[in-house]
Amino acid sequence: MKIRTRLTLQYTVVTAVIMLLCMLSVYMYSERSRSETFFRELEKEGVTKAELFLSGSVDTLTMQSIYQNNRHYIDEVEVAVYDTSFNMLYHDSSKNDIVKEDSTMISRVVRQKFISFYVDEYQAVGILHSHAGREYVVTAAAYDGYGYDNLFALRHILLALSVLGLSLLVVAGYLLAKAALSPVRSIADEAEKITAGNIDSRLPVASENDELGELAMTFNRLLQRLDAAFSSQKMFVSNVSHELKTPMAALIAELELALSRHRTPEQYEEAIRNVLDDARKVTKLIDGLLDMARADYRPDQIKMEEVRADELLMDARDSVLKGNRDYSADIIFESEADDDSVLTLNGNSYLLTTAFVNLIENNCKYSPDGNSVVSISHYRGMCVLRFSDKGHGIPEEERDKIFIPFYRGDSTGKVKGHGIGLALARKIVQLHGGTIEVFSHVGEGTTFVVRLPHV
Ligand code: ADP
Repeated sequence: MKIRTRLTLQYTVVTAVIMLLCMLSVYMYSERSRSETFFRELEKEGVTKAELFLSGSVDTLTMQSIYQNNRHYIDEVEVAVYDTSFNMLYHDSSKNDIVKEDSTMISRVVRQKFISFYVDEYQAVGILHSHAGREYVVTAAAYDGYGYDNLFALRHILLALSVLGLSLLVVAGYLLAKAALSPVRSIADEAEKITAGNIDSRLPVASENDELGELAMTFNRLLQRLDAAFSSQKMFVSNVSHELKTPMAALIAELELALSRHRTPEQYEEAIRNVLDDARKVTKLIDGLLDMARADYRPDQIKMEEVRADELLMDARDSVLKGNRDYSADIIFESEADDDSVLTLNGNSYLLTTAFVNLIENNCKYSPDGNSVVSISHYRGMCVLRFSDKGHGIPEEERDKIFIPFYRGDSTGKVKGHGIGLALARKIVQLHGGTIEVFSHVGEGTTFVVRLPHV
C-alpha cells in the first residue's frame, strides 16, 4: 500500500473516531440533560396540581376534564394524589393510569421522599408532599414529546454531519497526504535521473527546516561524498597511469636505443642498468599502491597483534639504510619506560613498518645531511613518535596538501618519489586509531608527529 493511501486512511480513521466519540458524547449529554430537566418539570407539575386539589381551589371533575381535554393537544402530565396508606384521593385518569401505583411504590416514596423512574417511554416521579400538616404521596407521569423531538432532530443533524464530515475528511486527508508527500515524488524523480555521468547534480530541497528537506540534504551530502570519491578515484587512476607511463616510456626508449645499432658490452651494461633502475621505480610504485589498497581495508580485515613500536622503528630504520648508504637515522627514547606496555601497540607490523619507513626516508631524502632523528615517548595512553630532520622544510601552503595521494611539493627538485608515501603513512596511522601531524619551518627542518594508542 502506498504511503499516501496509508496516511489518508490512518488520518481519516483516527479523526473519524475522535469526531464520532465527540458526537456520541454530545448526544448522550443532551439525552441526560433532557431526562433530568423533564423529571424536574414533572415534580413541579405534580406539586402544582396536588396543591390545586388539596387546597380545594378546583374541584376534581374540572381538573379531570382539563386533563382529558389537554391530552388531545399536548403531552399533559398525569397526576395522582394518595395518602400515605395508599388510599387514592385524586387521579387525573384512573383509566389511563400510566404509573400503576401499588403499596410498595407508595411506601418507597414515603421512605425516600422523592423517586424518579421510567414506565416504557414515559417518565414518572413520586413525591412526598406536605399540606396543612399532613403528608401525601403525589405521582406525576408524562411523555417528553418536546424533548424527544429535539433529541431526534439532534440525532439527525449529528448523523448528517458525520456522513458529510467523514467524506470531507477522506478528501482532505488525501489532499494533505498528497501535498505533504509531493516533495518525495520530486526527490525520487530527480534521484532517478542521477547516474555516474551527472553525479554533480543535486536533489531539490523544498524547505530546509522539514524532515523531507533534511532527507534531501542528507542525500545531497551523500552525493557530494560520492562525487568526491568518484573524482579522486578518477584522479587516482590517471595519476597511477601517468606515474607508470613515465618510467615505462623511459624503459622502452632505453631498450630501443640499445637495439638501434650494435653496441659495445659496456654500453649494453649501461643500458641494462638504466632499464633496471626504471623497473625498480615501477616496482616501488606498484608496492606503494598495493600497500595503499591494503590500508584501505577495514581494520577487522587486517591481522592485528601486539607489536613493539621501538622494534618496528628499528626494522624501518634498517630497511631505509639498506636502500641508501648515505642515509643515517637515530632512534632516541625520550622517557625511560618502566612498563613495556607504553611502547606496545595493537597493530599490523607490516603496515606500521611501511609507514615508519616512509617517514624516516622522507626525513633523509629531504635534508642535505640525509639524517632522520626519531624520538619515542608516551603521553596519555598514546605512544608518541617524532620523525625530525634539518631539511628545507615544507612551506605553509603545502602542509595541507602533502597527505593527498600523488601530491609532490614544488621544492622536491631532483628528489625521487611518487607522492604516495605520506598519504599511505596517514592511512595506516588512522587505521590504527592514531593521528599524524606535521610541524615545519622553511629552511630549518620538519617534524612529523605520530600518535598511536598503546595497549
Ligand atoms: P614523495 O616523497 O614521494 O614526493 P610523499 O607523500 O612522501 O611523497 O611526500 C609528499 C610531499 O611532502 C613531498 O613531495 C614533499 O614535498 C613533502 N615532504 C614530505 N616529507 C618531507 C620532509 N621531511 N621535508 C620536506 N618536505 C617533505
